[in-house]
Amino acid sequence: MSRAFSDGPEDPINRDGLRPRFWETTPLNRMTRPEWEALCDGCGKCCLNKIEDEDSGEVALTRVACRLFDDTTCRCAQYPIRHQFVPECISLDANTLETHLYWMPETCAYKLLWQGKPLYDWHPLISGTAESVHEAGVSMRHRTVPEFEVGEDDWEDHIIEEPT
Ligand code: SF4
Ligand code: SF4
Repeated sequence: MSRAFSDGPEDPINRDGLRPRFWETTPLNRMTRPEWEALCDGCGKCCLNKIEDEDSGEVALTRVACRLFDDTTCRCAQYPIRHQFVPECISLDANTLETHLYWMPETCAYKLLWQGKPLYDWHPLISGTAESVHEAGVSMRHRTVPEFEVGEDDWEDHIIEEPT
């Protein structure tokens, strides 16, 4: 997943020096790389395992997190070299976004902008702090279970509700 941060020691996403409210004036495919990375709110939901119904195509998110997800920082523990450990982890960009929308969380900034919706006030680009995501109850910090503790057959016991 494409993520990045920086308004505190636990936030690796750098949001300094960006054009003011660039997300309201610039299409996703015209953003600079730093702007694109700054859109990620750090909720951690894209690092959750999903259950997909083969018949309906519906996707449910579970609280069962990827083996590299750090539940305390709500970040990938090895983001720069994650593909060495999790080769299936996606790299999200404007070209691949559409193919992933069906499973992405409803609060994800990339999905919101794709849908023509505004960012929430708790988004760090608006609030000025990554903590607002956790305070709003949107993030998965302290809310996951590691995948090595839960067998795939039991994932359905850990489905989480998504805001609509
Ligand atoms: S779901 Fe979206 S906003 Fe949340 S961590 Fe993943 S890319 Fe970032
Ligand atoms: S490797 Fe796992 S924890 Fe890291 S970004 Fe990908 S899904 Fe998230």
